[in-house]
Amino acid sequence: MSELRWNPTAREWVSTASHRQNRPLMPTDYCPFCPGSGRVPEHYDVYLYPNDFAALTIPPAPPAVKGDRLYRVRPAYGQCDVVLYHPDHHTSLPQLSVDHLVKLVRLWRRRFTELKRIPGIEYVLIFENKGAVIGVTMPHPHGQIYAFPYVPPRLKTELAAARSYQRRHQRCLYCEILRKERQSGQRLVVENSAFTAFVPFYARWPYEVHIFARRHLGTIDELRPAEERALAEILKRVTTKYDNLFNFSFPYMMLMHQPPAKGRFPYYHFHIEFYPPYRSRDKLKYLASVETGTGSFLNDSLAEEKAAELRAASE
Ligand SMILES: [Zn+2]
Ligand SMILES: [Zn+2]
Ligand SMILES: [Zn+2]
Repeated sequence: MSELRWNPTAREWVSTASHRQNRPLMPTDYCPFCPGSGRVPEHYDVYLYPNDFAALTIPPAPPAVKGDRLYRVRPAYGQCDVVLYHPDHHTSLPQLSVDHLVKLVRLWRRRFTELKRIPGIEYVLIFENKGAVIGVTMPHPHGQIYAFPYVPPRLKTELAAARSYQRRHQRCLYCEILRKERQSGQRLVVENSAFTAFVPFYARWPYEVHIFARRHLGTIDELRPAEERALAEILKRVTTKYDNLFNFSFPYMMLMHQPPAKGRFPYYHFHIEFYPPYRSRDKLKYLASVETGTGSFLNDSLAEEKAAELRAASE
């Protein structure tokens, strides 16, 4: 049983998926993502794994409750995929070769293109949760792809901001930010031929990093072959710096921000956002009352200082 419930006070959908409570606890000596499990091919490099406990499905599960005008209810229509990065249980993204990461970029691209064409899919989100502190129960290196039947709120906010900036200034907001960051250099982390990584001026997390495509483009399926490779390369460099910052495998949330699946959004600009939960070697940043209840973040560090630390971290 699962459904989308409308919160009329915040004007947003909440996905309920009570069947997910029954997810089995995996025995510690068995991993379904490892070759030999019977659940994945004996040989693979990157692999798209159907999520057995998806919050969104096609066809959707019947809603557990009936909605009305105030409490709207929609079926939890959509798709949730698991993307296996590598057959080895202990090889995380920064440890993969650039050639291997190019395969991952191409898998993301292929699946993104497929999912956005499905009728009723409004947003395709490519992301990764990494680390037990983020709540990841399956340590085998993997990311996920969600295909939503609506555009999630934070993306709506970014789209509205980019559109209004374009209207007022006849320029892309993201291209402007990129220009400013490259000019000052204070918050830059690393760059290559096609991408720039930096700690944003307005970072909400101490070690937040955004990777912007330098060419003005919207989606992963617009990348040229050299840009696919440059994306693979910068992902490896940023995550390697993360791991070398405090010498442990650095947890993070990584999200690819792209325009919605349907329609034209020429004012939006392809980028990736990383939110690592650590604020120092042994302290986590928790989302407490203010962050959770108001959406306003308190970042007790300077983006300029954190960028300098990341620049100095070895690759
Ligand atoms: Zn495994
Ligand atoms: Zn742009
Ligand atoms: Zn964004």
